[in-house]
Amino acid sequence: MTAIGFIGLGNMGAPMAANLLKAGHQVTGYDIVPSAIAALAAAGGQAAASAAEAIAAADIVITMLPAGPQVREVYLGNSGILGRAAKGALLIDCSTIDVDTARAVAAAAGEARFDMLDAPVSGGTAGAAAATLTFMVGGEAAAFDRAKPVLEAMGRTIIHTGPAGNGQAVKICNNMMLAISMIGVCEGFTLAQRLGLAPQILFDVVSKSTGQSWALTSYCPVPGPVPASPANRDYAPGFTAAMMLKDLRLAQQAAGASAAPTPMGALAAALYQLHADQGAAGLDFSAIYRFVAKPDRKI
Ligand code: NAD
Repeated sequence: MTAIGFIGLGNMGAPMAANLLKAGHQVTGYDIVPSAIAALAAAGGQAAASAAEAIAAADIVITMLPAGPQVREVYLGNSGILGRAAKGALLIDCSTIDVDTARAVAAAAGEARFDMLDAPVSGGTAGAAAATLTFMVGGEAAAFDRAKPVLEAMGRTIIHTGPAGNGQAVKICNNMMLAISMIGVCEGFTLAQRLGLAPQILFDVVSKSTGQSWALTSYCPVPGPVPASPANRDYAPGFTAAMMLKDLRLAQQAAGASAAPTPMGALAAALYQLHADQGAAGLDFSAIYRFVAKPDRKI
């Protein structure tokens, strides 16, 4: 049993913390949204009134926050983690953030004599609930070895990707590829619809053919073929379009800085920007199907 302080109990953090409890760990949690803390307490965790209280006695601190600014604030701010964590605590940030922030916070943690890992995840809310997430972990090998048993309570694939920030580097590549493939799947269904094909027929063939992808078979953007996909609940997230846009911007920022040619990633970022501007930022990212296909349009 490990004493874990968990900060950020949203769509991902809540089920991840619940799985730590199921594995027998002691979890004390904090979120700025009181109902999120209440949900952790209802699942058997300890409610904390502040981030400092959540981490005071923790051997391991886990954060699952929206983006870089929140990670900076929670680690480096007044009464932040680096000033309040117990001596020897291992710090693990599972949020998806920019590589520079991840490296800067890890360096500050090192100066404060804490080991820190960036450990962003893939697998979505379904993977978080089923404890089947993939963790891509950046940081020292010894810290990775210490974190692994705890990460295994929340995920199935745990990979050490190299020094601090490398987990985030892998993550933005993954999500750029995901956004591009999601838009591709939406275009395929749009063309199929205009050609008079039923979505289920296209799904049955392509899910067994070379056009197959996770966006199609696990997260189908068209209602019907994959019952668990957000398309069947009016695109309630899941993983919001705003979060995907954030990750695409991070990828474009990194592509610019490293002179990597990513024209499809740039186009995906522009399409998600337009989609979000039309009021879809809070919907699941697979709702870009509506933007591409205009499914209510009369053929
Ligand atoms: P979310 O918005 O549902 O959860 C974030 C939580 O952090 C919220 O409950 C929010 O209240 C809390 N929070 C914000 N600022 C805080 C602060 N200062 N102190 C304490 N709590 C604070 O987001 P999510 O979908 O759970 O995503 C979290 C991270 O995981 C993001 O970086 C996202 O890109 C990444 N991610 C999400 C998914 C997904 O499918 N949702 C998949 C992989 C990775």
